[in-house]
Amino acid sequence: PAGAREIASLTPMMRQYLEVKALHPDTVLFFRMGDFYEMFFEDAVKASELLQITLTARSKGADKVPMCGFPYHSARRYVAKLIEHGLKVAICEQVTEPGAGPGIVQREVTRVITPGMVLDDEVLEPQASNFLAAMCWGEAGFGAALLEASTGEFYTFEAASLSELVEGLSRVDPRELLVPQGQREAPEVVQVCQRLSRAPAVAEGEGAGFEHTRAAAYLRSHFNVQSLSAFGLDGAPLATGAAGAALRYLKDTQKTAAAHVDRLSRQEKSACLVMDESSRGNLEVLKSLRDGGRKGSLLGVLDRTATGLGARKLARWLSAPLCSLPEIHARLDAVEELAGKSVWREELVATLKEVGDLERLCGRLSLGAGNARDLRALGLSLSQLPRLGTALARCDSGLLKSLAGPLGALPELADVLLRAVTDEPPLVIRDGGFIRPGFNAELDEVVALSTSGKDVLLRIEQREKERTGISSLKIRYNKVFGYYLEVTKANLHAVPKDYIRKQTTVGAERFVTEELKEYEEKVLTAEERRTALELQLFEELRARVVSGAPAIRSAAEAVATADALVSFARCAAEYGYTRPQVDDTEGLSITGGRHPVVERMLGAGESFVPNDVRLDPEDAQLLVITGPNMAGKSTVMRQVALTALMAQAGSFVPAKAARIGLCDRIFTRVGAADNLARGQSTFMVEMTETSHILHHATRRSLVILDEIGRGTSTYDGLSIAWAVAEHIHDKVGARSLFATHYHELVDLARERPRVKNLCVAVKEQGGRVIFLRKLIPGGASRSYGIEVAKLAGLPPEVVSRARELLQNLESGELDDAGRPRVAVRSTAKRSPVNAGQLGLFGGAALVAVPPPPPVHSEVLEALRAASVDRMTPLDALNLLAKLQREL
Ligand code: ADP
Repeated sequence: PAGAREIASLTPMMRQYLEVKALHPDTVLFFRMGDFYEMFFEDAVKASELLQITLTARSKGADKVPMCGFPYHSARRYVAKLIEHGLKVAICEQVTEPGAGPGIVQREVTRVITPGMVLDDEVLEPQASNFLAAMCWGEAGFGAALLEASTGEFYTFEAASLSELVEGLSRVDPRELLVPQGQREAPEVVQVCQRLSRAPAVAEGEGAGFEHTRAAAYLRSHFNVQSLSAFGLDGAPLATGAAGAALRYLKDTQKTAAAHVDRLSRQEKSACLVMDESSRGNLEVLKSLRDGGRKGSLLGVLDRTATGLGARKLARWLSAPLCSLPEIHARLDAVEELAGKSVWREELVATLKEVGDLERLCGRLSLGAGNARDLRALGLSLSQLPRLGTALARCDSGLLKSLAGPLGALPELADVLLRAVTDEPPLVIRDGGFIRPGFNAELDEVVALSTSGKDVLLRIEQREKERTGISSLKIRYNKVFGYYLEVTKANLHAVPKDYIRKQTTVGAERFVTEELKEYEEKVLTAEERRTALELQLFEELRARVVSGAPAIRSAAEAVATADALVSFARCAAEYGYTRPQVDDTEGLSITGGRHPVVERMLGAGESFVPNDVRLDPEDAQLLVITGPNMAGKSTVMRQVALTALMAQAGSFVPAKAARIGLCDRIFTRVGAADNLARGQSTFMVEMTETSHILHHATRRSLVILDEIGRGTSTYDGLSIAWAVAEHIHDKVGARSLFATHYHELVDLARERPRVKNLCVAVKEQGGRVIFLRKLIPGGASRSYGIEVAKLAGLPPEVVSRARELLQNLESGELDDAGRPRVAVRSTAKRSPVNAGQLGLFGGAALVAVPPPPPVHSEVLEALRAASVDRMTPLDALNLLAKLQREL
């Protein structure tokens, strides 16, 4: 911002500013000046715009320095806004009192807040985790670490490929990505950012921080262990490097010991049901596709938790369902018990509601960022735990019972915090007044002196009157002598020996005593001492919290688990879900299944039509589902995937009965998503995702393919869809659902033993199509595209013209003049690849030529050129309207 010469001409304070700024070049620097935070130079220009505060100028010498600022107490709001914009904020405080030493006040950056290093409630969403991710790579693949600063959660994993890495990261949707220095633009980093649904802010960690031997040493010293093998980090240099760098970043930005980060775990690949980023997105597990919100997502329906802890746990369970039968059964047992005991369940909910965010309270206090309100909230929350523990201990479910243990560990801490802190402590610790009377005798005395000084004086005065027998004795105050005792001349004979004479006036003498001097000293410094003492007590309490952090974290974990289970149980009871049978088979059978989200979104008078789906490795491994647009194909396929996912997360499912053979992965390839924004063509994205599925699916996987091949011409598309289906059937063996508008694919069932055809039933009535939403055996005979277009409100003349054209097209090719030719149809079965144009409408016999309608060649050209298969109903509508205008 300023060259050397200008710096020389700057004030000492501006020089100090530039020094601090040089240490934190990539942050917006909040520079504390008295009661304000000020920003200068580019920071001021940028911040004034983003924060909508007035830009002024500080003019010292000839140059004007752009500047803006705000009162210190509104900092949280402004930090929140800048973080939202993906910026980092460095908070620079005055660390010496003004006038305490020579020169200007000393200043230091006390904390750097970044998108992944947020502790403040104002910025954090209670139900969402806020992760920092660190990644590095080498010949063996990738290493990643995920660290939640506000809660202390910390884990790491290694991945053999970039897509595996993205899969792991996407589970928690990190806000910030830490990469080795100088690697910000590396293709790996760019790709990770592009492929995560919400691109994280990228920060650079100290290059050497990622180096694994140093990282290992750093981690060992933080956790105070001899070796990292307990964390499973032996032979995992990349994971170790990433973990070391992440922890260092936390400590460097927060400038604390981060005691609440007290464990690190390594996540094994097969530990949970894997879903890649796009599958999770397509199935709308955590967010709806419509607006990215929770509403309309599976989480939105299933989250009936009472605490932020529980909400975050539930989100984690849904993004990483289990693959271990005993764990799944343990959760299902718990859900079953609570679903059946509504009184217990609601009791638990009531208690849970009283528990605050233990993890974040503990995290904030451990990082030195908490205040007295956090102590109070922590005390209140902890005091609820025994009650919760008792309620859980009486359950039959082993899992619920086991949660009681960690909840009983902290009664003393709860007691101390509640005894220590007042009911409504101030926000700022320095304001004092948050320690409850009776907690600390010394403080009580100081407070008594500063607040009820008069009382004490009166008491002394009274006592002295009695002792001396001088009824006119008075205690007075003036600026020169401070407090003194005044005795009239007539009573001087009664003055005791310990009175020290100070001054004589006309009718009286003034004295002080040792006691009075002491008292005076106390009163005058009482305020100062009170603040200091309260700060000291705060630190003592904070230290107790920090030393209890591991127990608090364990308790928080138990609360979160209980809350998530209660939430599942509430859904089970209130939405009519049943317990799925989850086993080791490779089948899947759902009777009377519903879509958990769609069924909740239906309007009044609408009801969801349940459907049966059975997949079996012996005879129904791949289901081809046909049916017109809007019939309900996607819905039924997604509901199968969601049901499996819910079952493996330990939830009851929306069905009459369900048996789910464990899935190792769920893949979905749905529709032509709007990946165009990411600079790849839709078709390319579709094929990349399909290829990913074919490479990674196993016999245990569940594969959902919706309208694959749609993004290209009919023949290409059909051929690709056919070949993909064959490959899945012959080679992969995964349980698959395949929705397609290529009716030809129905023929696959004749050639392959484990392919079954299903279609979603529709009824035609007076030229209208009625969706029955019922899945029935067999293939759909036609696509009802025009009927659907009619439902969408296409003008009647367009609809009838379209019918006419369709008939012409179906009855044979049109000749160059646009006249239909006689078409000879073969009913013989064909393989699609060598099927001619006619094969598309295969099955028709010789068709008579209708009298040729007047045909306009431009219209025909346009019709020929249109790729109907790729059109949305709106595109079709527009095209038809345009064609009509040209007639
Ligand atoms: P397709 O994939 O065949 O085009 P969708 O699965 O998108 O059709 O379904 C279209 C709409 O129909 C959905 O938005 C949903 O509201 C409704 N729907 C689908 N299945 C059912 C059902 N079983 N019961 C009631 N409504 C349904």
